[in-house]
Amino acid sequence: IRGDHVKDLVGALRTVRSEPADRWLIFETNQGTDDHVISALPIEPSTTVDFRGDVTRGPRTITGGHLIFSVDGYEVTAYEPSKQFREKVGSLFPEDRVRVIGSVRDSPRTVNLEKVQVLHLAEVTRKIANPTCPQCGKRMKSMGRAAPYRCARCGVRRPRSAEARESVPRRLSLGWYEPPVGSRRHLSKPLQRMADSVPSEKASLEPARFRAPESDISLRSIGRLSRS
Ligand SMILES: [Zn+2]
Repeated sequence: IRGDHVKDLVGALRTVRSEPADRWLIFETNQGTDDHVISALPIEPSTTVDFRGDVTRGPRTITGGHLIFSVDGYEVTAYEPSKQFREKVGSLFPEDRVRVIGSVRDSPRTVNLEKVQVLHLAEVTRKIANPTCPQCGKRMKSMGRAAPYRCARCGVRRPRSAEARESVPRRLSLGWYEPPVGSRRHLSKPLQRMADSVPSEKASLEPARFRAPESDISLRSIGRLSRS
């Protein structure tokens, strides 16, 4: 039985239907605490890092259903993400700002994503029409992906930035995202324990570490269940 508070654990133990327990022990562990996370760069193999950056390459799916994207040039991989986590991670766009927590794999060098916090959403737009010619009002023609637009009638040119665009609604909100519990490392701190670091950017500047409440200082203790 795992829990955050001693009294919850003892209460939960009493609800377990089994043969009577002879002894029980409560001990404090670093499970679910992010104790393994090093809150600094550089990214070195066999460490788990916590860093912020901008998405520099949007997510793409590779064989096996893994999702890969880049943050400040570092490759980040979400392995076989569940449907919901995949949808969220897959909705990242270049210029989104994120905080990544993940373990560094040496070869191929990548950061295995343990959780991600979306800090800022970039404005994403899509083209809805070619620009119109400032002289004759006719729709201009594209002369190639990166080339300026040109009016077939007057020969006037306009840059790509003159095209009519509309913003695309983002299917992602600011906040933390994590894989389902079955795909998590036992040291990974679940988001539900991170309430203290979720609300604001300021709060999350502190390393997200679980602090036992003072009343729980006596965690390391041995007890015996009464059999009454
Ligand atoms: Zn024209």
